[in-house]
Formats: sequence, C-alpha cells, structure tokens
Amino acid sequence: MTAHILLIEDEPSIAEVVEFALTSEGFQVSWRTLVREAEAELAKGSCDLLILDLGLPDGSGLELLKRLRRSSEIPTLILSARNAELDRVLGLELGADDYVTKPFSPRELAARVKAILKRTVRNPPVIDQATVVQGVCSAWFEIDEVRAAIRFHNQTLDLTRYEYLLLKTLLAQPERVFSRGQLMDQVWPDPTASFERSVDTHIKTLRAKLREIAPTLDPIRTHRGLGYSVRIHDDS
Ligand code: CA
Repeated sequence: MTAHILLIEDEPSIAEVVEFALTSEGFQVSWRTLVREAEAELAKGSCDLLILDLGLPDGSGLELLKRLRRSSEIPTLILSARNAELDRVLGLELGADDYVTKPFSPRELAARVKAILKRTVRNPPVIDQATVVQGVCSAWFEIDEVRAAIRFHNQTLDLTRYEYLLLKTLLAQPERVFSRGQLMDQVWPDPTASFERSVDTHIKTLRAKLREIAPTLDPIRTHRGLGYSVRIHDDS
C-alpha cells in the first residue's frame, strides 16, 4: 500500500523538491501551506506521515505538533531552517520522530521518511495490556502484578506508581522502542494534562533505582528522538 504523506511547507520551491523526491520513491504526497489547512487534512485521518515546517504563515509548526500529539501518534518529521538546539530538542520532546535541517538532501530526506515508516510499521502504536505476562520476563526482571511490584535481580524495587507502570509497560515488549507519547498514554491517567518531559523524569529516577541494584547493567535504553526501550538480558 502506498504511504500517504502530508507535507506542510509554505515555501513552494522547497515543497516541489520534497514532493518530487517522495513521489519518485512511490509515495503519495499532499501539500499544504497553512496550519489550518494541515489540521483539516489531518482530521481526516488518512495520512501515514507528516513532514512539518516550523515557520508557517498562520502559526508555528511546534504548536501544531503539540496540539496534534494530544490525539495522534502520526509519525512526524520536522523539516526546518531553524537549527537552534532548542527547536530540535523541543520538537523531539513534543514527539517528532526526526528532525531535518534545511538545506537538505532530498534523497536523505526520502531515506529518513522510509526509515520512520519502517519503524512505525514494526512497532504498531496500539499496545495490548493483556500481553503483559504475569511473572515473566527474564533472569533480570520479575513482575508481580498482584502486589504491583517488580523484582530486579531478585530484589524488589521500591517504585512509585508511575515508575512501576513505566517499567511494566517497557517490559511488556522488551527491546521495543516506545515513544514518550506512547508511554504517556499507557501510564498517565490523563496524558493531555502532563508533559512528555515527565516521562524523562521518571525514567531517570527508575534508572537510579536499577543502578543501585546492578550498577553496570543499565537495562533501559534511550533512543534519541524516539523514546525508550528495555532489554531483559545481556546481549553481549
Ligand atoms: Ca517556512
């Protein structure tokens, strides 16, 4: 099936280059120049990936992304002339999957789009809590859902509610990369009321607790710009 890409870009010369690069690769591309047009298109729910410029005539791409992430996990690549670290970090924290700076190589852009789509297909966003297997895991971890506890190397971790739910979600699918948005949806009762940075904060405290038990293992991995995963055994 052809992936449908929504391009939001107010500069026609750039839009043409992107459109050409992506249609050459067999993608279907819709091009919009305004935030409000883009939101109308997104509301139809027919797009597989969003390429988003940040400086748009009727608003900011970052604001659009922030609103979008309250209800949608659509893979998003930011394409911006703004190379400030703050924009990058903010864009990724708001849930963008990748960030490409103008000027860019059209072929590289197409390759990145393909990579994002591949990851998303492999990691479907719907997580079935029933797949969390009681008591599983590995020599490293053991979940005790009755007591809402997790043991790591045979020691019960002293976890807060959020840390417990975060780790349980990660353990449900070891090695799978969860975006911050996906973790929020699973763990926080009202994800819209929290900020994705909360995920980072709780991951940090969780890591510290794991480190107390096994100082060198660091089973939680950070995937820059993507999110987190957990490994449950030594892969060396
Ligand atoms: Ca622009």
